[in-house]
Amino acid sequence: MPNKEIPYKIYLEESEMPRQWYNVRADMKNKPAPLLNPATLQPMTFEELRSVFCDELVRQELNDTDAYIDIPDEIQKFYKMYRPSPLVRAYCLEEKLQTPAKIYYKFEGNNTSGSHKLNSAIAQAYYAKQQGLKGVTTETGAGQWGTALSMACSYFGLDCQVYMVKVSYEQKPFRREVMRTYGAKVTPSPSETTEVGRRILQEHPGTSGSLGCAISEAVEAAQAQEGYRYVLGSVLSQVLLHQTIIGLETKAALDKYDIVPDMIIGCAGGGSNLGGLISPFMGEVLRGEKNYKFIAVEPASCPSLTRGRYVYDFCDTGKVCPLAKMYTLGSGFIPSANHAGGLRYHGMSSILSQLYHDGYMEARSVEQTSVFQAAEEFARVEGILPAPESSHAIRVAIDEALKCKETGEEKTIVFGLTGTGYFDMVAYEKFHNGEMRDYIPTDEDLKPGFDGIPKFPGNEI
Ligand SMILES: *Cc1c(COP(=O)(O)O)cnc(C)c1O
Repeated sequence: MPNKEIPYKIYLEESEMPRQWYNVRADMKNKPAPLLNPATLQPMTFEELRSVFCDELVRQELNDTDAYIDIPDEIQKFYKMYRPSPLVRAYCLEEKLQTPAKIYYKFEGNNTSGSHKLNSAIAQAYYAKQQGLKGVTTETGAGQWGTALSMACSYFGLDCQVYMVKVSYEQKPFRREVMRTYGAKVTPSPSETTEVGRRILQEHPGTSGSLGCAISEAVEAAQAQEGYRYVLGSVLSQVLLHQTIIGLETKAALDKYDIVPDMIIGCAGGGSNLGGLISPFMGEVLRGEKNYKFIAVEPASCPSLTRGRYVYDFCDTGKVCPLAKMYTLGSGFIPSANHAGGLRYHGMSSILSQLYHDGYMEARSVEQTSVFQAAEEFARVEGILPAPESSHAIRVAIDEALKCKETGEEKTIVFGLTGTGYFDMVAYEKFHNGEMRDYIPTDEDLKPGFDGIPKFPGNEI
């Protein structure tokens, strides 16, 4: 089909919108390993998990068998406010690169929270409301998740308590104020409001906090208040499930024009956006119907897939959450000051970890200056100012398009553009001023993280 028949933006009609999420675990022969109770090393049961998470979300977390799960009407209604998100043909970027490759990106930044995270936030808030809860607690690092959850909670009239890593709370006052605009209570972490916060403050006075500590505070806060549960913005299988709305829309849009991608690329922090984007395509591969190349892109400074171990590990630094089997750098690993805050997690979704382990997906790590070069190149021709996280995918999409230029292959590349970068201008400033540094941890730097991985029979690193 000649290029020009394909519009710049492919949208779906309301009648073409997905009405079910797709659960890729149903088609996996090797299921992701179950979450373990760290005390007993037995799989977490429904009863154990429901004291922390909403009941329906626990059911989704434990569901390895149903391929399709209905999206409740209320969530579909909310999705209509900002979905479908456009699938854009990057004609301008193709021209700039002079590549024969055809490049498409699925843009998730068209909502106030500025990223894909709203797709799961609204689902999690909905199930909390259904259960008659008063509110939810969570942590946020860079602030995208907290923002998305604030929006979702205000829609359903739920109380939203966000523990925001103190350094971000102070450095990103605008993010904080967006959350407060949507009615969330934002507390810098560590705080005096929880036991674990008080303990950490006593042991490390003046600490600027960490994601692991904020998680521990949010979990404690949920358990200390009647009618509250804790919610998480990535990593868990339930979150990946909600994010399949991205991949289902992408597939429907491509199918409309008989476009078959050769490769699908996405950035991987905790893995939910990439997992959501590739799930429907991965399903076809798992069922033996099609073949695609999938590429996960991560920062060279936090290389969980490319340099991590595939073992059971803690999900949080405070070690209050269950053990998950995943590619991990160790829950004690502290990445260097990389500007893609959303990609600084030490582990990876156990679904993606299993698929990667079984050879269904590739992974690449990229350095941040080359990521910002790609971001700027993209912004100047495609108009959108991308988030640093999303720009990891742009980097590899451009690299692949340039390879096509050398070989003359007309490959079709699809990548996930997870969000916008308006709150990341300090990072762009550093890049423009030539003050941005690349940092690749040495094996020695990674060792303390690996040493902190729990040791028990069958969990050798
Ligand atoms: C959180 C975030 C990511 C990372 O998403 P995961 O689903 O955890 O991999 C990527 N891009 C943006 C813009 C984000 O906010």
